[in-house]
Amino acid sequence: MPGVNQTSVDEMLRDAEAAAKAKVGGIILFGVPETKDATGSAAWDENGAVQMGVRALKKEIPELVVITDVCMCEYTDHGHCGVLKNGDVDNDATLELLSRARVGGHRRAQRHDGWPRRGDPAHARRARA
Ligand SMILES: [Zn+2]
Repeated sequence: MPGVNQTSVDEMLRDAEAAAKAKVGGIILFGVPETKDATGSAAWDENGAVQMGVRALKKEIPELVVITDVCMCEYTDHGHCGVLKNGDVDNDATLELLSRARVGGHRRAQRHDGWPRRGDPAHARRARA
């Protein structure tokens, strides 16, 4: 897709800093794991690309809104959006894994871990945007 690139965390940070300087309010990260498996276990790896990227972003550019995708298709070796059972996506089993992915690192993109709180000047800037 034009304008969409796979980058390392340091390259992503450089691009995110440029985006923040250009007054872009937020970015979305999609992870490309080193290995994929049937359950997409890289989705909840604390040292996964998205998790490391979110930590770096919240440390270096805390005012930037960071959105992550918790779908499993980036992480499963079969490419489906959930775990398979008898050839179909097992939604109940997938929900458990999606919650692991959320708790396992993607949550750091959420308000309690980096978004400005009320009274913080960055919060007012976001409210006006
Ligand atoms: Zn998907």
